[in-house]
Amino acid sequence: MYSSAAPAIQQTTWQQALARSCTQLPELLNYLELKPSAVPISADAMAKFPLRVTYDYLSRIEKGNPNDPLLRQILPIEDELAFNSDYTANPVGDIEAEQVAGILHKYHGRLLLITTGGCSINCRYCFRREYPYSGNQTSKSVEQEAMDYIAQQSEISEVILSGGDPLILNDARLSSLVSQLEEIPHLKRLRIHTRLPVTLPSRVDPLLLTWLSKTRLATSLVLHVNHPNELDNAVGDALLKLRQAGVTLLNQSVLLKNINDSESTLCQLSEALFQYGVLPYYLHLLDKVSGSQHFDIPDADACQLYHQIRSKLPGYLTPTLVRERSGFPYKSPIL
Ligand SMILES: *Cc1c(COP(=O)(O)O)cnc(C)c1O
Ligand code: SF4
Repeated sequence: MYSSAAPAIQQTTWQQALARSCTQLPELLNYLELKPSAVPISADAMAKFPLRVTYDYLSRIEKGNPNDPLLRQILPIEDELAFNSDYTANPVGDIEAEQVAGILHKYHGRLLLITTGGCSINCRYCFRREYPYSGNQTSKSVEQEAMDYIAQQSEISEVILSGGDPLILNDARLSSLVSQLEEIPHLKRLRIHTRLPVTLPSRVDPLLLTWLSKTRLATSLVLHVNHPNELDNAVGDALLKLRQAGVTLLNQSVLLKNINDSESTLCQLSEALFQYGVLPYYLHLLDKVSGSQHFDIPDADACQLYHQIRSKLPGYLTPTLVRERSGFPYKSPIL
């Protein structure tokens, strides 16, 4: 029997858990009990866009299954090297939309504030995998320039913290950023686009909840979950705390071949999200970024699939199927 001689349990902070993320292939394969020959790994693909995944996320991958839908989102494979001129480094015109460093103002009333290039997980289909983040270092002067821009644009009522993943930043940084935003009178809403409550549920800690529940801005958080297996009880607990702090929870997914391109997976995803208090928001068609063509689904197939899920789910659990098109004033619905 254990007695009081047992060592005190050391609480791991989210920063420590993040620092221990898996970035090495042998470690990944060993943890998942996969033989290197079982998966079409590519060192060149990994050199272009590194492997990165948290252990929370890894723990939801089925051991020994090379086709696991979560594994396929993070594994650098040979297919990424196939050349196709339809796929480019800047598929949605983000580089042209950058008004001042760190600001993407494409749509009326809202803009993206790029806070960091860092992420807790590197998703192989990510449209920002080639984004030149080093050009918008978030130094104090750059931050001031961004704040000045927002203050001058009185049509802006919502600021979206994006990246990378904004919740990678520490709470001192974030709460200082948000206090500066609160001082801009025409701002009403704050939105955070993040994967961290899913990839690292411990990120939702008292410090984060404190500034989130105090801000005068009406706050929403848009998760990025593609498959129901990404959700477990630890994620559910984190989401409940966010809701208790008054945050509205939404989700966007990307339609990905061999990952979530089936009626049952998408219906289960919507239902699981709602169980955790999250409403489906967008289902994006893939942005054609270099290295992602093996995830693409032809438009006609996407439409058919969408018709199927719409026939099964209530309207409020059906995300809007959209494509991001350069130069359009909104994300364009497909159907
Ligand atoms: C997606 C996006 C938004 C948000 O669009 P919503 O339709 O409000 O979700 C805002 N700005 C940019 C640049 C975007 O890419
Ligand atoms: S920005 Fe989002 S989708 Fe892209 S790698 Fe980071 S977490 Fe993944």
